[in-house]
Amino acid sequence: MSARKGALPYAGASDIGLVRSGNEDFYVVNPPLFAVADGLGGHQAGEVASQIAIETLLGNAPKRADAKALGRAVRAANAAVIEGAQTGLGRAGMGTTVTSAMVEGTHIAIAHVGDSRAYLLHLGELTQLTQDHSMVADMVRSGTLTEEESRVHPNRSVITRALGSDPNMLVDGFELDAAPGDRLLLCSDGLTSMLEDRDIETILQTAPSPAAAVARFIVAANEAGGQDNITTVVVDIEGSSPVTAARPTANPAAETAVPHEGSGRWIGRVAWVLVAMAIVAAAWYSAYAYARSQAYVVEESGVVAIYRGVPGSFLGISMHWLEAVTDVPVAELDPITAARLKSGIRVDGVAPAFSLAAGYRQQVEPSVEPTTAP
Ligand code: MN
Repeated sequence: MSARKGALPYAGASDIGLVRSGNEDFYVVNPPLFAVADGLGGHQAGEVASQIAIETLLGNAPKRADAKALGRAVRAANAAVIEGAQTGLGRAGMGTTVTSAMVEGTHIAIAHVGDSRAYLLHLGELTQLTQDHSMVADMVRSGTLTEEESRVHPNRSVITRALGSDPNMLVDGFELDAAPGDRLLLCSDGLTSMLEDRDIETILQTAPSPAAAVARFIVAANEAGGQDNITTVVVDIEGSSPVTAARPTANPAAETAVPHEGSGRWIGRVAWVLVAMAIVAAAWYSAYAYARSQAYVVEESGVVAIYRGVPGSFLGISMHWLEAVTDVPVAELDPITAARLKSGIRVDGVAPAFSLAAGYRQQVEPSVEPTTAP
């Protein structure tokens, strides 16, 4: 799907690049929805996954620039990619990134998973809106790698979150208010691995139209080597937002916690403390009940371990209980799974966790070689 030619305030384009034998990227330009997906898993898998994701997103997108609703549409796309692999539409192990935006006047909602990116050019200055879910981005954030090093790191394409494997996949979602004259860019890593941010900024600053910008991006990425499929969507932000009248809401806790004046003041405070304690107790209990129904698999001392519960802690109390430690070595699994196991892969219960671990065992057992298609 692509924009019609003309003076439209948006455009999208995708190019195979100079090295790859197929294009596994997919995008949609269907205002107010814009999205880019970068498929993973190779021939007959990556391009299927990215197309399923974009089509499902299109069918489930909300009418408004609402990040939560857009996030739900991305989760529906995730379920569709998982189902596609199971029903033979694509292949097992296929996955895809999705970086999506709903643009309503100057109001923008973003929902994002993977290492495709959203950028905003505001007053000539480029800002990266999304955080990559990738191994090198984690290393840059923890300070073990510089931004420059991450661009040439051998594991730069290993992503830690993607659609197609985890039914409980987390979606990053947020909203922002841009200004008329700003430019929004969505792109796959075939652009950002070839061009530095300052080159992307220059092209967005100088291109006379979104159509000119997407064309220049593809030329520039190919001139820089075209190592991967290149997909970009550019949207010019124009007009005023229908939601500009709605100021950011104040912290509701700060408003409601103001004690009443007069004789009821102390009673009010005591009541507030009791209400707060009841809320904490109820929240803790419901978190506990939820955690008991959940499970996850995670790397522990180099092997796959199975836990009931959820990773991390709630109100300072950890909510996970060891179920089993397997002898499946994480280092022998495919790199994406291995990377995701570092933070844990969540599933709906202990039984699915055991079957996930059983699948990993099959991966490392030499007798179960994957067959190659003719
Ligand atoms: Mn790519």
